[in-house]
Amino acid sequence: MNNHLADFAQTLAELKAQGQFRQLPQLDHQGKMIVKDGRTMLNMSSNDYLGLANDDALKSEFLKNYGENLPHFTSSSSRLLTGSFAIYEQLESLMASRFGREACLLFNSGYHANIGILPAVANKKTLIVADKLVHASIIDGIRLSEADFVRYRHNDFNHLETLLAKHQAHYQRMIIVTESIFSMDGDVVDLRQLVALKHRFGNVMLYVDEAHAIGAYGNTGLGIAEQQGCVQEIDFLVGTFGKALASMGAYVVCDQLIKDYLINKMRPLIFSTALPPLCVAWSTFLFEKLPHFATRRQHLHQLSKKVRCFFRENLAQSILSESGIIPYIIGDNQKTVATALALQQQGYYCLPIRPPTVPKGTSRIRVSLTADMTEQEVDAFLTTLMEFEQQQCK
Ligand SMILES: *Cc1c(COP(=O)(O)O)cnc(C)c1O
Repeated sequence: MNNHLADFAQTLAELKAQGQFRQLPQLDHQGKMIVKDGRTMLNMSSNDYLGLANDDALKSEFLKNYGENLPHFTSSSSRLLTGSFAIYEQLESLMASRFGREACLLFNSGYHANIGILPAVANKKTLIVADKLVHASIIDGIRLSEADFVRYRHNDFNHLETLLAKHQAHYQRMIIVTESIFSMDGDVVDLRQLVALKHRFGNVMLYVDEAHAIGAYGNTGLGIAEQQGCVQEIDFLVGTFGKALASMGAYVVCDQLIKDYLINKMRPLIFSTALPPLCVAWSTFLFEKLPHFATRRQHLHQLSKKVRCFFRENLAQSILSESGIIPYIIGDNQKTVATALALQQQGYYCLPIRPPTVPKGTSRIRVSLTADMTEQEVDAFLTTLMEFEQQQCK
C-alpha cells in the first residue's frame, strides 16, 4: 500500500475504534416495514411523514394519467441550456400561487438549495447569523460563501438579538438562518419572533429551511410558516420534496427579483443537470393534492401527541418536541446502541444517534412517526419501550 491508502486506512481504523464507522445498510422495503438481515421491522426512522411514499394507489393514479406517454426520465441538461421543460414552470407557478408569493424556484435537492442560495446572495459585506444546530448542508453553503459567519445558541433569540445589535453597523446585510423544525429534537421555532427581529433591525433577511415541516404542518400542508401566518415575511422559504412530499428535489419560495438573481448567480442551479421531468411531474401530482391530505396530517399529529405525552409521563423525558420527531434520550452511547438493537429485535427499526450528531451525553433514539402508522402499532411500540425501561430499573 502506498502512503495515501495507509493514511486513509488509519483514519477508518480510528473511526471504527470510536464506534463512528459508517456503512451503507442493506435494506429491503415493504411498505412501512423495513426488512434487514431477514428481520421485518416497522420503520421508526422514516422521513415519509405523510406515508405517501408507500401509497401504491397514488402511484397507479399518477401512472394512469400518462399511459404510454410518460414524461422524460432525464432533462439531459441544466435548465439554463436545453433542460427546461414546461412541467418545471407549472410546478413553480402552482407553488408560488399556493404560498401567495411572487415566485418559486426548483432545485435538484435540499442539499443543492442550501449550498447554493447563500453563496449567491451573500458577499463580503454580509453577515450570516445561523442557529447553532442548522443542517450540515447549510453549514456547507455558509462555508462556500464569502460572508462572515456567527452562530447563536440554539433557538436563543436573546443571544441572536445581541449578535445582531453588535454587528449591525459593520455589515450591509445580515441573514438570519434557521430551520422551522429541528431534526434531532423535533422542536418548532417561533418564526414570528424572527420576523419581528428582522423588521426591528432593518438590514436583515430571513432564511428558513422547512425540510421537516413542508407537507406535514400547516392547514394546507405548507409548513410551519403557514401555521404561524408568516409566509409573506420570509425572504428565502426553502423546503425539500424528499421527505413528506415523497419525491426528490427542493424549492425556494421568494420574490421574483430574488428568483431572477438566483438564476443568474446560483452555481448548483446553473451548472447541474435539472431534475428528470418525470420526477417533477410526480412532485406536481402530489403537491396539487397537498390540501387534501389533512386527514393524514391530523392522524400524524394525534400519534405525535400521544407519544410525547407518554415519553413525558412514563419515561421521564423532558420533551422539547412539538412534532412527530420525538427523541428518546438515553445519554450513554453504548446503552443507546444496545437499546436500538434490542428494539430492532422486537420489530422496530430504531437507530441510535450519538455525538457528534447530537451534544455529548444526549445520545438518543430518534423516533420519527408517520401518518401510515396505526394507533395500535404505536401503542405496541410504547409498551415495548416501557418494558425495557422497567428492566433497566431492576
Ligand atoms: C434533509 C434535509 C436537507 C437535505 O435535503 P435533500 O433534498 O435530502 O438534499 C436539507 N435541510 C434539512 C434541514 C434537512 O433535514
